[in-house]
Amino acid sequence: MNRRHAIIWAFFITLIPLNAWGDAGRIRYPAIEGRVVKVLSGDSILLETGQRVEQVHYIGVRTPRMEERGEGALDYTRRSFLLNTELVGGKIIHLEFDIMQRDPAGRLLAHVFLLNKTFVNAELLLYGYGVAVYTPPNGMYRRLFARLEHQARSVGRGMWRVPNNTPLPRDGFRGPYVANRKYKIFHRPHCPWIQGIPAPESARFQSRKDALSQGYLPCQHCKP
Ligand SMILES: [Zn+2]
Repeated sequence: MNRRHAIIWAFFITLIPLNAWGDAGRIRYPAIEGRVVKVLSGDSILLETGQRVEQVHYIGVRTPRMEERGEGALDYTRRSFLLNTELVGGKIIHLEFDIMQRDPAGRLLAHVFLLNKTFVNAELLLYGYGVAVYTPPNGMYRRLFARLEHQARSVGRGMWRVPNNTPLPRDGFRGPYVANRKYKIFHRPHCPWIQGIPAPESARFQSRKDALSQGYLPCQHCKP
């Protein structure tokens, strides 16, 4: 934990000027404090604040969902939940807001900070347990988030880990392959798990070597 916090502190030094310059003229909601009563997923919680319990969704980070489990994400759905629980479970936290405070479902959209200033949204990305997402108009830290995701990917942290060996398929299948850019998983073209991939997040590879060399991992379901 100490080294992790040291890393986060290093980021905070770079965050201070972002805060000072980036927010001028923005509509701001005051920060609120509350106690986490339940961790719902890797990127959402229930927060008790005053007399209310609010559902809070983290800005800028999306952790793997159960429905994406066919892409090997099941394990990381659980792990991102556990990391979020370790970070915020039962704790008093601060929420800071961007331009839009609530989503259409009424959930709070927030940057989440521990009392020791750990930036939870950033931690999840830094340790490779989520992808950076930009949902306009909330983009105060989008460059930082993209950088952290890139950093986690480039060193293979968390769900970006590349195993040392990926066994060849027993039936001799040799492509072509369909891949999910977001989670960097490649599939056989008939795998049911490719049906949910939005077109902009889909990629094709002619060879297994191409996919592996770009950091894609084989699907645990269709084992391409
Ligand atoms: Zn598959």
